[in-house]
Amino acid sequence: MGFEVRLSERVGPALFGKLLAQVSLAGGARAEIPVRAPFTGEVLGGIPAGTRADVEGAVMLAKQAQPAWAARTFAERAQVLLRFHDLLLQRQDEVLDLIQLETGKARRYALEEVLDTAIVSRYYALHAHRLLRARRRKGALPLLTRTWEVRPPIGVVGFIVPWNYPLTLAITDAVAALMAGNAAVLKPDAQTSLTALWAVALLREAGLPAEVLAVVTGEGPVVGPAVCDHVDFVMFTGSGATGRLVARQAAERLIGCSLELGGKNPMIVLDDADVEKAVDGAVRGCFAAGGQICVSIERILVHETLWSGFVSRFVERTKALRLGAALDYSVEVGSLTSERQMTTVEDHVRDALGQGATLLAGGCRRPEAGPLFYEPTILTGVRAGMKAYAEETFGPVVALYPFASEAAAIEQANDTKYGLSSSVWTRDVARGVRLARKLRFGSVNVNEAYAATWASVDSPIGGMKESGLRGRHGAEGILKFTDSQTIAVQHILPVAPPWGMDAGTYARWMTRLLMLIRWTRFLG
Ligand code: NAD
Repeated sequence: MGFEVRLSERVGPALFGKLLAQVSLAGGARAEIPVRAPFTGEVLGGIPAGTRADVEGAVMLAKQAQPAWAARTFAERAQVLLRFHDLLLQRQDEVLDLIQLETGKARRYALEEVLDTAIVSRYYALHAHRLLRARRRKGALPLLTRTWEVRPPIGVVGFIVPWNYPLTLAITDAVAALMAGNAAVLKPDAQTSLTALWAVALLREAGLPAEVLAVVTGEGPVVGPAVCDHVDFVMFTGSGATGRLVARQAAERLIGCSLELGGKNPMIVLDDADVEKAVDGAVRGCFAAGGQICVSIERILVHETLWSGFVSRFVERTKALRLGAALDYSVEVGSLTSERQMTTVEDHVRDALGQGATLLAGGCRRPEAGPLFYEPTILTGVRAGMKAYAEETFGPVVALYPFASEAAAIEQANDTKYGLSSSVWTRDVARGVRLARKLRFGSVNVNEAYAATWASVDSPIGGMKESGLRGRHGAEGILKFTDSQTIAVQHILPVAPPWGMDAGTYARWMTRLLMLIRWTRFLG
């Protein structure tokens, strides 16, 4: 075994008490949901099973608090986020422990969340004003109509988030909504609520009024639908199946929603790729956080001329990965997060091998490391009809496929209902970018696995096809939390027949005027 859940001086009962005090409860006793540490299976603590009444209470308080928050200047709101940014970096060890204890991931991937959350908080703190400022638009009548597009907040935004990147996914979208002047109600996954509560406590310490960002913990099918029933906009991150339920509820209420869903992400290694770099990218892309990232690589297409060199080196590097449970940077691969993930991973691998796929690495549990450890796994010979071919595994399992032509690689990469993330490896950057334009994925990383697009936070990232609706980051990642409003001031003449002109004359004049504008392109 070698590892016990050590509730160190950083993460102990005192911290748990402080975190649980952040949960919005409408009063009365609540059942407790146990949270198990994936590293050992031991119970870390319990979170309250929130109810519909808790959500209603939190949304009501958020609605009351929102106008005062929106009335603050961008600079005042930014100050809170920048203070949060600094505190997060200063206190990172505490949340790194917590993320690891709740998810079982290796510390280096918990660190990705801390860095990402700091980067996105800083980005929206510094750029929200520019992205949302009132903009002059062409008026209806030149000189006579002065028109502005403005972007008021929607109101209260609901966030329903999964367990795999519990800090990033709970906070980075919420900070955009908050900078736009919204209040928010957050429903974290029951497995990883403590991490979300830690971050919310830190935001409050940085100056965020408590009611402006409420957290209701509990079971997804209880708290999730209640959130969708009361907020003004829902941002959901998770599986396509739950995403559809959320979208249906949003449609019923005629509120907006944004969905970040799953993927079956390909990586293409072209014939001119640097094999060593591509292998390095593949190891990270497939096995970071145990493959439990929405943008994890689950399919690698390798040009046949590089096939044997790539495969042997990739297998060698994968088998050498240090796997284990440690609250430090000494290991490269952590544990899966839940028995549910383990079941899917084992099912996909068993199904593929049962139908004739070949195992090149991994393929089994590592119980001596902990109850949910599974070896990084490489398969070849995976074909249509096998679960691992088209379904998202969301675990440390990748299938390799050789290809003969660029066109064949593009066709195979695009042959999926998903469209989340992809990766292309080549020494010819222009060729990589050309190929990227032919891929139907919301992000394409050239010579990187997933992090280049994710960390380019000035540009939106999201899913095409069944991988989602709308995107996070950049202008899109904050505009979606606003309504669009047009304000136009009319001077001197009305936008109607002037000076008692009769409707027939007006019709002739306007027809001539529009033809003139169209032919001269004047004012167009
Ligand atoms: P899930 O859909 O089971 O759960 C996601 C969230 O929805 C959780 O908070 C859960 O409690 C809640 N929920 C459950 N039932 C609900 C209901 N009826 N109504 C409303 N909310 C409900 O997702 P999961 O399987 O735990 O997460 C993994 C999935 O998330 C994978 O498919 C992964 O690709 C995807 N994901 C996508 C992104 C992205 O940015 N595109 C990021 C991370 C994870």
